[in-house]
Amino acid sequence: MKILIATDKPFAKVAVDGIRKEIEAAGYELALLEKYTEKAQLLDAVKDANAIIIRSDIIDAEVLDAAKELKIVVRAGAGYDNVDLEAATAHGVCVMNTPGQNSNAVAELALGMMVYAVRNFYNGTSGTELMGKKLGIHAYGNVGRNVARIAKGFGMEVYAYDAFCPKDVIEKDGVKALDSAEELYKTCQVVSLHIPATAETKNSINYALLKDMPKGAMLVNTARKEVINEVELIKLMEQRVDFKYITDIMPAANAEFAEKFAGRYFSTPKKMGAQTAEANINAGIAAAKQIVGFLKDGCEKFRVNK
Ligand code: NAD
Repeated sequence: MKILIATDKPFAKVAVDGIRKEIEAAGYELALLEKYTEKAQLLDAVKDANAIIIRSDIIDAEVLDAAKELKIVVRAGAGYDNVDLEAATAHGVCVMNTPGQNSNAVAELALGMMVYAVRNFYNGTSGTELMGKKLGIHAYGNVGRNVARIAKGFGMEVYAYDAFCPKDVIEKDGVKALDSAEELYKTCQVVSLHIPATAETKNSINYALLKDMPKGAMLVNTARKEVINEVELIKLMEQRVDFKYITDIMPAANAEFAEKFAGRYFSTPKKMGAQTAEANINAGIAAAKQIVGFLKDGCEKFRVNK
């Protein structure tokens, strides 16, 4: 069996070494295509691959057509919108992601950005503290749970709302579970966003939801930019000079945010929530283990194209 790592932005060497160890211990062969510049290189490399590990690499119908021996694609990471799931299903290819492997990295960034913001972007002036503030976690999934754990260490009062996670699961972590997003935003001065971008959530973080946040409100987005209604957020921030927006996913209207809201707006230059050595290694090795489990035992846990 040939397992291909196809990454235009390569894994760290230590992650590749870890993946190789898992693959070779299972008796499989590892092939590497890194920093490719042309799609033709990918089409050629997948020809005889039985499994592929990717990062943000695009796996579309053309790649799947070329990969005649392919059984499984694993996206080392949480989001898998770079894989054409319908085409994969039509080709009989299993697609998986590696949920949870980068959650701590994203959560640490969310808390780090909160500290940065309440300390006035480290500009030397007097700021405020997070201790005692009410933090609302919007979606209590893998990242949300890690944010709760760290925020409790900061002494924050932690609340959460999740449309699908049962309240008792949230409350056993010592987090107060609320019944609606509206209630969460009304209650909490700081809200950390962790919803996925779906048909239902796109544009859902809007004026009506944000306007009732308490004085000194701050919205922290490490989820996706598509969930924000940017036009309405700009309108709200024009009206509320106490409102801060801090994001790891640069808005389409970044220039307008930066110009209008200096001192209460910050975006990372490039999405970097999951960009840590640890997340890189964890996700790569998890991908290798999932491939071995699938090929040897038919294990389909983490399959996303059911
Ligand atoms: P997850 O799948 O573990 O959790 C998502 C949670 O959202 C689930 O608990 C689900 O029940 C909940 N949910 C879904 N729809 C909802 C809705 N309409 N209202 C309320 N809750 C809803 O995902 P995760 O790993 O925690 O990731 C969360 C988000 O962070 C995703 O959008 C992901 O793409 C993003 N992310 C960003 C980075 C980054 O680099 N900044 C890295 C990883 C993940």
